[in-house]
Amino acid sequence: MQVLSVLLDLVLLGPPGSGKGTQAARLAEKYRIPAIATGDILRAQVEAGTPLGVQVKAYLDRGELAPDSLVIDIIRHRLSEPDTRRGFILDGFPRTVRQAEALDALLVELGRPLDAVLYLQVDRESLLERLSHRAEVDQRSDDRPDVIAHRIDVFLDQTAPLIDHYRRQSKLRLIDGTQSPELVAAAIDDVIGSLADPTGPSPGG
Ligand code: AMP
Repeated sequence: MQVLSVLLDLVLLGPPGSGKGTQAARLAEKYRIPAIATGDILRAQVEAGTPLGVQVKAYLDRGELAPDSLVIDIIRHRLSEPDTRRGFILDGFPRTVRQAEALDALLVELGRPLDAVLYLQVDRESLLERLSHRAEVDQRSDDRPDVIAHRIDVFLDQTAPLIDHYRRQSKLRLIDGTQSPELVAAAIDDVIGSLADPTGPSPGG
């Protein structure tokens, strides 16, 4: 009998264009746990023209962060869904200290602390290059050159403080995000492999 007892709760932290989405999708498939991207959730609401979508559209178009209370509510609901029982990968949340504190409190409530926060480090030049290339293929309304630069500034201003927040909690793991996706994936797998697993070795491994 195979017992899948692994609980893997991860945050992917990194600037826009650092490869969070790519790595989150891979991890989701590998560990069969959901990747939860607040950007995707918000874009879907905008597309569907829901009241929430109408409310946040202008923020997304300008590359500004949507209000904390809104995204915190989204995550609170999402983490109560049964598919997160064995773990989750948060991609693009938290993005402010207030969001991080709300997540800390929520996870205390749920009795499931984060296993690690993977910080994908990529320099500004590489980000600009990647995002302008992405703009040619995906037609996201916020992948315009002026908005791209602003989103990086927003990251440095509002999200980079989370690096220290999680370093203080000894959760932070640095990953060189300038490498190829395959090498980034290998570095992430090394980190996950090194995490203490209180449930013991997995069956067959
Ligand atoms: P992303 O797809 O992660 O690059 O997010 C796209 C946009 O969605 C961001 O520029 C913000 O406008 C909004 N967004 C996504 N996640 C958050 C969050 N955690 N807090 C506030 N706004 C967010």
